[in-house]
Amino acid sequence: MPENYTIAFLGLGHMGGPMAVNLVRAGYTVAGFDVVPAALDAARASGVPVAASGAEAASGAAVVLTMFPSGRHVLDAYRGSDGGPGLLAAAAPGTMFLDCSTINVDEAREAARLAIDAGHRSVDAPVSGGVVGAEAGTLTFMAGGDPEDFEAVRPLLEVMGKRVVHCGAHGAGQAAKICNNLILGASMIAVSEAFVLGEKLGLSHQALFDVASAASGQCWALTTNCPVPGPVPTSPANRDYQPGFAGALMAKDLKLALNALQSTGVAARVGPLAAEIYDTFAAEGGAGRDFSGIITDIRDKSGARDGAGNVPVPGRDGARGTASTHAAQDDGSPE
Ligand code: NAD
Repeated sequence: MPENYTIAFLGLGHMGGPMAVNLVRAGYTVAGFDVVPAALDAARASGVPVAASGAEAASGAAVVLTMFPSGRHVLDAYRGSDGGPGLLAAAAPGTMFLDCSTINVDEAREAARLAIDAGHRSVDAPVSGGVVGAEAGTLTFMAGGDPEDFEAVRPLLEVMGKRVVHCGAHGAGQAAKICNNLILGASMIAVSEAFVLGEKLGLSHQALFDVASAASGQCWALTTNCPVPGPVPTSPANRDYQPGFAGALMAKDLKLALNALQSTGVAARVGPLAAEIYDTFAAEGGAGRDFSGIITDIRDKSGARDGAGNVPVPGRDGARGTASTHAAQDDGSPE
């Protein structure tokens, strides 16, 4: 990579906006662009220099970083659409195309192929860690591409994240991301079903947590993002399921996982079901809630009502009680 190079940062939304700010603060020269004027204004107000178009930003850059909603956005922008010039044509030969969006594995491979055919370099590097991680510069990056290309972008990724993993060839970053989120979505459903079952069986939230968190049921969905309020005070359940990781994003990632399961012919049963469950959750009001809010869906569909005063809830000590408020059930206290 040349000295003092410019990064074209395209897609200054919830994630891209703060990521671009962190690059500027670290001393990188950034030319930002977003098709939504409000995103462009917000970036400018945060100190990110902006260009008049994506093509203009790309034409003077050594790295074209994209942080878009979907693979269609990435491929359209690379190729050009609506008569506008594509990023691949606008960029100087040998430009690094670094896509950090979460997209289908096939689309990531296609994007890499297009970039390489056009004489450029390519790395896919989706992230986990959400908006909080984007703001704090603590994202995890999962990268796919040639080792030397990965090493070339590693310093940038280390500004925006605290963990950077090279997962393999083009598309391997996206593959790692959707495999991880398949585990996460399925495990959150299992943890939530277990808590609702525990409620029905007269088991307190705290008792189930104390056992499972120290036993073979232990997992991130339980011990960090616990779907019931109380046992893990920082989990979104304690703030009425404000995300966190929104249901819409989990639905999106599981759809990507489902596409990959189908295209590779994996004999999966839980993954497709998890994708369907989160698709319904997002469509029925859960899109903007933390994905752990799936427990309220399961509880509602199980004929129980959280905090409505009619759910038998055992106390921490195993004594039975009746929840009359959210708070009473929140910490599993005896009534
Ligand atoms: P977002 O919708 O807030 O931001 C995407 C931005 O891209 C938008 O501002 C949009 O206007 C812009 N855009 C689309 N096409 C463009 C183009 N051709 N040129 C310039 N700008 C363009 O989405 P987000 O929450 O920032 O997520 C971005 C990506 O990161 C997604 O793929 C998402 O799945 C992934 N992701 C998000 C989170 C999260 O918590 N939000 C966490 C991990 C991964």
